[in-house]
Amino acid sequence: MRLGTFEWMKSVNRSIIINKIRTNAPISRAQIAKETKITPPTVSSNVKELIALGIVEETDYGTSSGGRKPKMLMLTDNKYFVVGVDAGSQNIQASLSNLNGEILYRSHCSLKGVNTNELFIEALTTSINTISSFLKTNQDILGIGIAMHGVVNPLEGEAIFAPNLGLTNISIKERLSEHFQIPIYVENDARAMAMGEVWFDKTNAPLSLVTLNIGRGVGAGIIVDGKLFYGKDYLAGEIGHMTIDMNGDICDCGNRGCLQTLTSGKIIVSKAKARIPSIHFERFNDQITGDTVFQLACSGNEEAIKIFHEIGHAIGIGLINLIHLFNPERIVLGGRVMDASQYLLPIVKQIIQEKGLTGKAKNSHVEISRWGHDATLKGAIAIVLSHVFDDVAEDELTYE
Ligand SMILES: [Zn+2]
Repeated sequence: MRLGTFEWMKSVNRSIIINKIRTNAPISRAQIAKETKITPPTVSSNVKELIALGIVEETDYGTSSGGRKPKMLMLTDNKYFVVGVDAGSQNIQASLSNLNGEILYRSHCSLKGVNTNELFIEALTTSINTISSFLKTNQDILGIGIAMHGVVNPLEGEAIFAPNLGLTNISIKERLSEHFQIPIYVENDARAMAMGEVWFDKTNAPLSLVTLNIGRGVGAGIIVDGKLFYGKDYLAGEIGHMTIDMNGDICDCGNRGCLQTLTSGKIIVSKAKARIPSIHFERFNDQITGDTVFQLACSGNEEAIKIFHEIGHAIGIGLINLIHLFNPERIVLGGRVMDASQYLLPIVKQIIQEKGLTGKAKNSHVEISRWGHDATLKGAIAIVLSHVFDDVAEDELTYE
C-alpha cells in the first residue's frame, strides 16, 4: 500500500480537483475547496499548474455572496483535442473533440473491399489523417481512441478477432504508432460504450453498468465496481454468443441459438422476407433492410411490428440473464437495432418484469443510450480522456 507522501497526496488532490472542474464547470476555486474539502491554498496551487499546462482556463466572473466576484474555472476547449474512432463492420467514423468530449468534426470512410489487415490499417490511417487536418497550428491531439468491434486486447492494442471483417490479429496500436507519435488506445466497441456512459455522466455515474451494442452482432460492456470487466482473455461481454435456444439457428460462430441469431439486423430482414409480401417494399425500391422494416412498422404494418416485438422478447431474455449474473445499477442499450426502441423497449421491460427473480430485479433500470448512433464514438473519446485525466493527475507536471 502506498503511504501518503507529499507528492502522492498532491497527485490525489490534483485528480480530485481536475475531475471536479470537469464535472462541475464553471466552478470557482472557493467552491472546489468547499465541495472537495481540500484546503484553499492547495486548490489554488494545483489550479495554477493546470492553467500553466493549458488544461484549465479562467472564464467569466461568477456570482458573489458579498465581496469580490470569483473567477470561474473550466476546461480549455480550443487547445487540446482527442481523436475518437468508431471502427464498425461497414465503415469507419472518426471524430475530433475537445476535452469536454464535444464532437467538433467528423469524417467517414467506407470499409467496402477492405479484406486484409493491411487495408484496414490503411483505412484507419487515412481516417485519422483526415480528421487531424482540421487542427490549427497551435492545437494538439492528446490521444487517439479506437473502438473496434470483436475481441480486442486493449493492453497490446490488438484486434484479436474482428468477425464482421473476417480479420484476425490486427496490431492496430503498433501499426498506427508508425504514423502517429501520440498515445493510442484500442478498445472493444461495447466496452468503450460503457466507458462513455460512465465518463460523461457528470452527476450520477453508476458503479455498475451494462451496455449492449445491438447491430450485426451483440456485444456487452460491463462495468463492475466502477471498472471495466475484461475476463482473463478479454472475452467477457461476448453476450451475442450466449446460447438462448439450444436447438436454434446456426450462428456465425458455428454454435446454435446464440442471442445474436435472434436479435441482429440479419434476423429482422430474414423474418421480413419470409412473412411480409414483397409488394410492401416497393416504395423502398424493393430494399429489405432492418431500416425499411422499421419504417414499415412506423407506418402501421402489423407484421413488421410483430417482428420487432419478437426481437424485443429475445433482447429481454438476454438481459434477464445479464441481470441475474451482474445485477447492474443501470443497463444502457445502443446500436442500429435500437433505432426501433419504440417497439423493442416496452417488450424488453415486460420480459424483465415477468422473469426477474426479485422485485428489484423486475424493475431493473433499462434505458436507450442518450448518444444514439454516437454512443460508440463517445466511448472512444472517453477512453482517451480517462487516460489523459489520469496522466494529468499522476505524472510529473512539465511546462513548455
Ligand atoms: Zn454465436
